[in-house]
Amino acid sequence: MAESDAQRQRTIGICDGCGKAAVVWLSADGSCRSVSGYNACSCTEASFRAVEGDESSRDRV
Ligand SMILES: [Zn+2]
Repeated sequence: MAESDAQRQRTIGICDGCGKAAVVWLSADGSCRSVSGYNACSCTEASFRAVEGDESSRDRV
């Protein structure tokens, strides 16, 4: 059972609630969860959004 890190990647996510950055797992479906397994910030329901590092920010307006 080694279907592990291929489907998710570590990246930086920003909490929608408080704007805090944390290391998150980014799943293939686009969902993020903090690597620690717990909320990485004090929000009741933190929802992290992956930030696309240094790649050219695609404008999606
Ligand atoms: Zn937060």
